[in-house]
Amino acid sequence: MFTSVNPATGKPAASYPKLTDAEVGQCVARASATYADWRLSPHTERSDLLRRIADRFEAETDRLAALATAEMGKTLKSARAEVAKCVAGFRYYAQAGPGMLAPVRLKAAGGVAEARWHPIGPVLAVMPWNFPYWQVVRFLAPTIMAGNVGLLKHASLTQGCALAIEEMVREAGAPEGVFQNLAIRAGGVAALIADDRVAAVTLTGSEEAGATVAEQAGRALKKVVLELGGSDPFIVMPSADLDAAAKAAVTARIQNAGQSCICGKRMIVHGQVYDAFAERFVAGMRAVKVGDPVDEANDMGPLSSVEQRDAVLEQLERFKAAGATLVGGERLPGEGAYMTAGVLTDVPIESEVAKEELFGPVAMLFRAADADEAIHIANDVPFGLGSSVWTNDEAERERFARDIEAGMVAVNQVLASTPEAPFGGVKRSGHGRELGAQGLHEFMNLKTVMLP
Ligand code: NDP
Repeated sequence: MFTSVNPATGKPAASYPKLTDAEVGQCVARASATYADWRLSPHTERSDLLRRIADRFEAETDRLAALATAEMGKTLKSARAEVAKCVAGFRYYAQAGPGMLAPVRLKAAGGVAEARWHPIGPVLAVMPWNFPYWQVVRFLAPTIMAGNVGLLKHASLTQGCALAIEEMVREAGAPEGVFQNLAIRAGGVAALIADDRVAAVTLTGSEEAGATVAEQAGRALKKVVLELGGSDPFIVMPSADLDAAAKAAVTARIQNAGQSCICGKRMIVHGQVYDAFAERFVAGMRAVKVGDPVDEANDMGPLSSVEQRDAVLEQLERFKAAGATLVGGERLPGEGAYMTAGVLTDVPIESEVAKEELFGPVAMLFRAADADEAIHIANDVPFGLGSSVWTNDEAERERFARDIEAGMVAVNQVLASTPEAPFGGVKRSGHGRELGAQGLHEFMNLKTVMLP
């Protein structure tokens, strides 16, 4: 059984049965059989299904949001926003997807070549708990539009959300086997990747899980998309609106209690405005209201589990041992997985801990002499996922957009994923893209048809 524990109370919330190996085998057989038909479905049928799934999500917003809050502690307000984003994601692919599947005609030496998009088969998604619906929708909406079918191995923490997604898809009238939730542990993933009926795998999560899955996919010669950790820079230059930047930096760092791959995690501030920014930012972080995630007055709930909270606290001890100074970032008493927001200064850039992802509501604050040093600090980590740059200087914007080693750069705004734009990273943040046309095409066969 999987038992979910409400991180706000420390009490078990619900239990969900684990699938047996035989049941997993039946699911894979069903996926394979459904794919044989679904690959031939008209694009209009796929769009209609996506619209109906969007409608189901929308109608069930309150129930879905409450479930996510109970399983992983995000504020109810943000859980509702996450469901709304899923609705938008399904509708985006319903509307724009067919156009992305249009064949491209090319003049070739022997006549005409046509590049056509074909589906490839059942796609396995291994997903994390931090955005328990949106992470899945990012893979599921394009999977359905492509004519593929989906198999989900969701995080152990969010098995209720996984079942709820399956229910929404079923109630929307999807053919059986278009999307199935596999309630299995991580250990069951290897056999699925090795199974000839599974065409490809996508994973969002830690570097360790990503490397393991990529190794297994490599052995099976299957395509893999990885969306792993990040230690995103948030750069503030003298021309920026400091009030707006400081406010946004707080939002970026505490959203989802700091447990987002694209949170701004390292605030890198030009020396000229460092003190003015630091004063505003530290005051903003200290003012973050932590408490019951259901209470709309709170900015932040607990972390996803006591284990996750304690891992962050242990990491903060290592920052202090390396010479950093910590303000806030303290454990709160009680059964829940609560801690306060915090800021680390004097972090030795070369220390090992400074290179790690900090998956909790604590920011690192660095001073940079100029744009060159800001870029150097930004790139001085193994990750390259997102980034946010605050400047009103056009040349500086272009410089950051060109030279920051990241899959995404947001100018004068908090970076957020959006269905229309490709999402993903470089370096140890993974490879491949989700969302946009590129996300749809990742798991498709671009077949060249030579015509006379
Ligand atoms: P994991 O990477 O362990 O979990 C993500 C998913 O991968 C879950 O479904 C998990 O299953 C599965 N998984 C874990 N190990 C394997 C494996 N060897 N083979 C196949 N599947 C596997 O993340 P955690 O929840 O443990 O969080 C640990 C750290 O990972 C965080 O502190 C953070 O740094 C990072 N992380 C990053 C995320 C991001 O969005 N980039 C999201 C979540 C975590 P199960 O839950 O059953 O273990």
